[in-house]
Formats: sequence, C-alpha cells, structure tokens
Amino acid sequence: MSRILGLGALGVTAASTLAVYQTRFVSRIHQASSCQMSRLEDLPSREIIVDSLKKEKQFDVLVIGGGSAGAGVALDAQTRGLKTAMVEYGDYCSGTSSKSSKLLHGGVKYLETALKEMDYEQYKIVQEGLNERINVMKAAPFLSHTFPVLVPTYKWWQSVYYWGGVKVYDFLAGKGILKPSKFVSKEEALEICPTIKKEGLRGAMLYYDGQQNDARLVLVVALTAIRYGAKCVNHTECISLLKDSDGKVNGAVVKDHVTGETYKINAKVVVNATGPYNDHIRKMADEKRKPMILGSSGIHLTVAKYFCPGNTGLINPKSSDGRVIFAFPWEDVTIVGTTDDPAEASHSPTVTEKEIQYILNEMNRSFEKEYQIKREDVISAWSGIRGLVLDPRKKDHKTLARGHLVDVGATGLITIAGGKLTTFRHMAEETMDKVVEVNKLEEAKPCATRGMKFEGGQEYTPMLYRIISRKYGLEESVATHLCQTYGDKVYEVLKLCKSTGKKFPAIGHRLHPDFPFLEAEVRYAVKEYARIPADILARRTRLSLLDARAARQVLPRVVSIMAEELEWSPEEQKRHYEEGLKFLKVEMGVCNLGKGKEDTFELNNAEKTAIYNIFKKVDREKRGYFSGADLKVFLNKRANVHQDILDDVILEANDGNKYISPGDLHKIYLDIKNGSFKGRRLVDHLGEVKWE
Ligand SMILES: Cc1cc2nc3c(=O)[nH]c(=O)nc-3n(C[C@H](O)[C@H](O)[C@H](O)COP(=O)(O)OP(=O)(O)OC[C@H]3O[C@@H](n4cnc5c(N)ncnc54)[C@H](O)[C@@H]3O)c2cc1C
Repeated sequence: MSRILGLGALGVTAASTLAVYQTRFVSRIHQASSCQMSRLEDLPSREIIVDSLKKEKQFDVLVIGGGSAGAGVALDAQTRGLKTAMVEYGDYCSGTSSKSSKLLHGGVKYLETALKEMDYEQYKIVQEGLNERINVMKAAPFLSHTFPVLVPTYKWWQSVYYWGGVKVYDFLAGKGILKPSKFVSKEEALEICPTIKKEGLRGAMLYYDGQQNDARLVLVVALTAIRYGAKCVNHTECISLLKDSDGKVNGAVVKDHVTGETYKINAKVVVNATGPYNDHIRKMADEKRKPMILGSSGIHLTVAKYFCPGNTGLINPKSSDGRVIFAFPWEDVTIVGTTDDPAEASHSPTVTEKEIQYILNEMNRSFEKEYQIKREDVISAWSGIRGLVLDPRKKDHKTLARGHLVDVGATGLITIAGGKLTTFRHMAEETMDKVVEVNKLEEAKPCATRGMKFEGGQEYTPMLYRIISRKYGLEESVATHLCQTYGDKVYEVLKLCKSTGKKFPAIGHRLHPDFPFLEAEVRYAVKEYARIPADILARRTRLSLLDARAARQVLPRVVSIMAEELEWSPEEQKRHYEEGLKFLKVEMGVCNLGKGKEDTFELNNAEKTAIYNIFKKVDREKRGYFSGADLKVFLNKRANVHQDILDDVILEANDGNKYISPGDLHKIYLDIKNGSFKGRRLVDHLGEVKWE
C-alpha cells in the first residue's frame, strides 16, 4: 500500500516539476532566440584558434576536458557572452563519452531504486534525464532517434512489476514522452526479438528511450561553441595550473600534442571537466585535496546485427550478479554490455578477456541456444571509465553521490563530476550558474542552451537523405549515414566527394566495402580538427567500434588521405600508422580478439586433432585429400545435397581449389575461429569444433 501511495506522491511531484520545467523551457527558448548571438560562417583553422589562445590576455572561462561535460560547459559559457577557451587532451569526446551505451535516458534502473527506497534524489535524476533526453533529441535530431527496448518476463509478478515501473517512467516524461510503453504477448515478443529464450517466456515490456551517436553529439556541441566564438582546441593537455599571488587558480600551462609546443592560457575561472581525471586536476590546484572520484570500467562488445535483429534493444535487468545486461542494435551491429568494475583513470583503457567472458556468459542466458554469441563472433571490444563521485556528505569514502556534483575548491577551481551524457546540458548550466555566482561575473547573460540547435541541426529534415540521394546519385545507405551524421552540414561533405566514373553511385568512394563511410569524410574530418587516424576510426566515423578488423584494413588509406590534407612527411605517416595500429590493438580489442600473439587465435592440439578426425571421416579412401564427391558420400547418410552445390561449397571454402587437404582444412577452421565467414557453409556440413 505504501508503495502505491509512494507512486502517487511521486506522480504528483512529477507533474508539478514538469509544469515548472515547461515554463522554464519556453522562456529559455525565447532567451536563446532573442540573444542574437552571431555565428561564424566558416570554422576557423586549428592554427588560428591556437594563435588566439596564446594571444588573448585573459579569458573569462577556461574549460579543461572536451568530453560531454566540458563541451557542454564551453557552449554554455560562450553563449552567456563570456570569453571562453577549452583544451582537450585527445580528440573531442575521446574519453568516456565516446564509449557510452548510446542511450539518451532517464534511467529505468534509477527509477526502480527511487520507487523501492522512496529516494527523492534518485527520482530527481530520472526526471532530469527525461527532461534532457527530449532536449537533446530536439537539439540534434539527426544524431538521435526513439529507441524501443524489450524487457522479457518469465514470471507473472515480473510482468506486473515492470509494467508499473515503465508506466511511471512514461508519466514522468510528461510531454517529452517518446511513445507509450506497453506489455506485449509472448508471440509478439518473439516476433520483435526472435533470438530470446522461449522457455517460460510470458511476454515482455516494451518501452522507449532515445539512442544517439555519442562521439558526434559531443563534437557538434564543441563545434557549436566554436561557431559562437569559443576558442576550443583538441590534442592539447593541461600539464599544470597557474595561480595568482593569493593562490587562486587563474589559468593553465598546456602542451599541444600536434606541434609539441607548450604555452599558457590565462583565465578568470578554470573549470575542470576531465571525467575520471578530475582528481588529477584537483590535485594540480591543491595537493592536499581529498579524492572525490572512483573509477569504474564499463565495457561493450560488438557482434553482428543478427543477434539483435530489427531496431529493438533487449535488456536483462538482473544478471546472475544483479547487474543490467543488454544487447542494443546500433549502426547495423549489436552492442552488448556492460560491466562495472573498479578501474584507474586511463587515456587508453583496454578490455580484458575476463570481462569479455563475463558479458558473453551473462548475455547468452537471455538467448536461445542456436543464437548464443560465441567468442569468435566478437568483432570489437572497448572500455570506458566512469568517474563516479564520492558523496562529500559521507565520511566513509565509499558511498557514491547520485547524479552529478559541482565542486568549488578553495583555489577557485570549479570541478564538474559524475552525471550522464544525457544530462550534459543541464550539468553545464548548473556549473556555469556556480561559476557566475562564485566569481561574480556580472556581465554574464542567463543560460541560453535550452532549446538551442546544435551544429547540423538547424536546417535538417528527416527527408534530407532522399533529396541528396536523388540529387547526387548516392546509394541510400550512404545518403542515410551522411545525413544522420552531419545533418544539414552534409553538403559540405558532398563538396569533397570525388566522382566514381560510374552511372551509380555517381560520387563517393567508400573507405571499406562493407560500411557506408566515405573517403571524403576523412578530408572533412580534418577540417573539423581531426589530427590522428584514431580520430577518424573511432570518433568521426565509428568504424573501430563497429568492426576493429575493418578499421585496421582501412588504416593505411586513412593515413594516406590525412597525409595529403595535413602534408605529413613519410616519417610522420609511418609514425601515425604505427600509433593507429597500437590504438586498435589496445583500445578496440583487436589484440584481445585472439589469444595468440598479435591479433589472431591459433589452433590448440585438441582442436587440431578434432579437425583431423573430421578430415579422416570424409577422406574414406585415405588419399590425403577430399573433393565434393567425397563430401557427398559423407553427407548422404544425413542430408541429400546436390553434387554441384557441394563442389561450389568446396571451391568457396578453399579459394577456388576443388580438393581439400588436412592443411587446407586446418586453415579453413582457423579462419573461422578468427571470425571469417568464408568456409562456414562447408563447416555446417562437416560439423563444428568446440573452441577452447
Ligand atoms: C560503459 C558506460 C556506458 C555509459 N552509457 C551511457 C548512456 O548510454 N547514456 C548516458 O547518458 N550516459 C552513459 N554513460 C555515462 C557517460 O558516458 C558519462 O557520464 C560521460 O560521458 C562523462 O563525460 P565527461 O565529460 O565527464 O568525461 P569524459 O568523456 O571522460 O571527458 C573528459 C575529458 O577530459 C580529457 N582530459 C583528461 N585529462 C586532461 C588534461 N590534463 N588536459 C586536457 N584534457 C584532459 C579527457 O581526454 C576526456 O576527453 C556511460 C558510461 C559508461 C562508462
């Protein structure tokens, strides 16, 4: 009963909060549009920005860190009319923000805690997330969309429990609701997601959140800030802080990793938005400050789209150890995650074999046997480090604060920590309110970011891909990808496309035949400040997250296009190629995809014996090879397949050779163990080998 009352109370509070929110929303849109801020037509070059950073006597605000929090603060500060600078150690969004689960959400999990424990703070986090979810979707409609999520239920009480939960979630979203959630029958659930476990299935809850392209989202926030006049630069590390005679932080010494130069940036206020590195910068300001961040690693595995067909995500809200495990379709693959294990801050986090096995075991509990994900199905693996915030009110140094926290140090350094990518705009607003209040920046205008369109969002319409596909003779998949990445800036990319010399597609050379990314995007990315191959592979395109091996295949081409644009010498090209390779191995799981040296699996003795035993069964004449005819005799016992087809299966598996030796068969199985599709038809006939 108390729970029902609790729900009611939450509902009333939600309705009133919503009313306040709506009033503020409308007035802020008005403020934003009445601000009449001027926007730069062309993006300034990196060199021009660096020059301004060096020459400006004093900025109002210097932001350290260009993830979702830092980019949000830079945009907020600049559009309040404050002279703003931002430095980012790597590429924009190269930290945790590019390794998110790609959701725009209030957090159904937080809602569960809010309801179970009658926790008002958790409720506020959900409410904030839902408010900001719709705001981001309006600000960057080309980068986000409504995302259905299925929660299968296997016990009757689960159906009631989840139904109640997601209905409250819908209610809290108010006018920002994306689509009403509903309970679907077992049959409907299997139609939506045919891979889920059937036994005991009662039905499923279907609810809606938002999905986004995190790296591009953060980049467009930074680009919008630059268009409004902020001086933001990537690949620039804050190596120490400057202080005045009273010990107040008033700038930073930064190192440009592109040019190798070190220089000073002076500012009235410095905002620390370095995510898992927040304590590192806080200690630069004051060595004695107690840590406030706990690092926690969360990994994702990428597998093929067919594990999660359609456009609906699948969630298991309770893994064997109580965590949420999910499989989400995203950009034509499935991403599976995630973990939550203690970890140190790192600029190049890596995924361990133990983490991979954990996710596979837990996710496979949700799938039917024939759809279980095998180790060799993993085509990429990446980790992000959460910078969880310790609750300053608790003395134990263990309890985590909920949501985000704005910390004001005695040195004047202001730190924004925790939170979610979804809520970055609101976090930035609160941070800048604090900056203005503490530093009495009376010239600052009110926050103008609510309702503001980000770079690419102004003229975008959902039909844009049809227009450009027809006008320029582009494949639909390429046109869709371009519009959903660049929004109305797609024409800038199209200007850089070269003719194919074919009737169709008329323009645009793909970087990789299996993906819609174009070579012209590399050239455009350089204009948007990409400076190393990893910027292109991981953030400007998402290729390394989608398929780490495909990323490795295009690396030489990416290096050569960047070399043309940035005039790299042969030595620089070699260095960038090697660094790109290292990035793929360490951060994208190319290394972890195999247990052998380099990035490949090898066959162990047991597997070799199993393969040889299969060979002996087919080569009954003991000639030392087998052909399609031998395969037919072998198969006749269990399947009647036409001889021509079997010959073709052998030719396909063995590079056009019609006989298969034991060595050939080992190689075919080895390639399959390493993720190849070639030869899978043959193996279907011969039988699988259990990999160890
Ligand atoms: C596995 C996982 C899944 C998640 N999924 C979601 C989700 O689906 N939806 C959601 O809303 N949230 C999600 N989150 C949370 C969200 O990703 C984070 O809250 C958010 O990205 C943090 O952003 P940030 O800017 O604080 O940190 P970061 O993105 O890490 O940015 C900090 C930046 O500071 C830079 N930096 C560090 N040191 C320096 C220095 N000395 N000088 C200059 N720059 C420096 C770093 O290079 C980095 O780019 C997820 C988090 C994880 C770990």
